[in-house]
Amino acid sequence: MLIDFKELDSFSGNSTSPLLTEERACPVCASTSAKALFALSNFQFYSDCAQLPKRTYIKDCQCLHCYAIYLNPAYSDYGLEVLFKEAGMSYGSSDGRADEEIGWLFEKGLLNSGTTVMDVGCYEGAFLAKLPDGVFGIGIDIDEPAIERGRSNYAGRDISFIHGDFESFECEERPGVITMFHVLEHLSRPVEVLKKLRSLADNRTRLLVEVPILELGATNDINGFFSVQHMTHFSRQSLANTLARAGWKIIDRFEAPDYNGCRVLAAPASVEEDVSGDPNDLFLVYSYFSKWYEELGKVEERLMRYKELGEKFIIRGGGAHTEFLYHMTSILHSRKRSYAIVDNDPMKSGTTWRGITIYNSEALSDVDWSDTYMIISSYGSQEKIYEQAVSDHAVPKDRIIRLYDSLRVY
Ligand SMILES: [Zn+2]
Repeated sequence: MLIDFKELDSFSGNSTSPLLTEERACPVCASTSAKALFALSNFQFYSDCAQLPKRTYIKDCQCLHCYAIYLNPAYSDYGLEVLFKEAGMSYGSSDGRADEEIGWLFEKGLLNSGTTVMDVGCYEGAFLAKLPDGVFGIGIDIDEPAIERGRSNYAGRDISFIHGDFESFECEERPGVITMFHVLEHLSRPVEVLKKLRSLADNRTRLLVEVPILELGATNDINGFFSVQHMTHFSRQSLANTLARAGWKIIDRFEAPDYNGCRVLAAPASVEEDVSGDPNDLFLVYSYFSKWYEELGKVEERLMRYKELGEKFIIRGGGAHTEFLYHMTSILHSRKRSYAIVDNDPMKSGTTWRGITIYNSEALSDVDWSDTYMIISSYGSQEKIYEQAVSDHAVPKDRIIRLYDSLRVY
């Protein structure tokens, strides 16, 4: 397949709608005093589209009362629907960590026979399906097709699936254990959701919440810790405050720096209306940004080698990492260059991003590399993509640009 190289931003139909976002107070303490930490305008969610608004204004703020860091404005329900259509609306517990998660609960003595475990943000129910025999599962998700798949995949198992909103779903059962793995950071009203879960709990109920935290957030990924898909960027303190405001007290914890998971186990407690922050969270912000900008500088330094080279660039990867490459580095802004994107996702093939056509990886085999470079726009999959390009598509090694010398977690 012959690749048609295009100029960047040659598609001009992308629009922004004020309906995508809405202003809010601090999702942890409800204060309206905050300062802006980081902002990107015209952030585009995935492919070009003249019908639906896909661009928005990303701004992360820090609360001046409790120091919680949050997206403000946050996505509206309509915004979430539009922006995440291509990414899927679910929070996706398809990370393959279910065995470890269940082992952890088991060690804590929380999976005795007869217990009911409620997984909030269960997606297709992969976690619940791994619970030991004699333990009942309840799964809740807003993604209706995922809930339907769960129902049909695990028919005959002791799992019931509920499709619904986390604040208003109906459930008669009283769970012994409630789990939320990497869900809370995606919610615009985390305290209200935790209050809803508190209303289902009795004194023996335990709530497991796992989120990424700022303390473990420093890596050399240009995407950084402030994921555009997260509504709250938790720290240890702001997570504890969020739980306290909903009537939960942390009684145990575990942290996994390798994938940035902060897991806490909480028990019902009285609601703390007025939580105070820890100034340490301000220190954490400065420390995080100093590392992140240093890493961005290293990536930019690498890319400067290609400043004068290559008339054509293939961007290998058409996801959110490429949007960050656009905003945070110079590599896509040379006026003398034209671009194409190659991505393995069949959903993306044939669509465009900022006017650049997306092809599947077979297209790499037909490229004339004499004046063309391929830039790998991925963090976690950089090495895999490099090896495949060389072995499957005979891309010359000296034409491949890698952004990262290694993947590092601080
Ligand atoms: Zn606050």
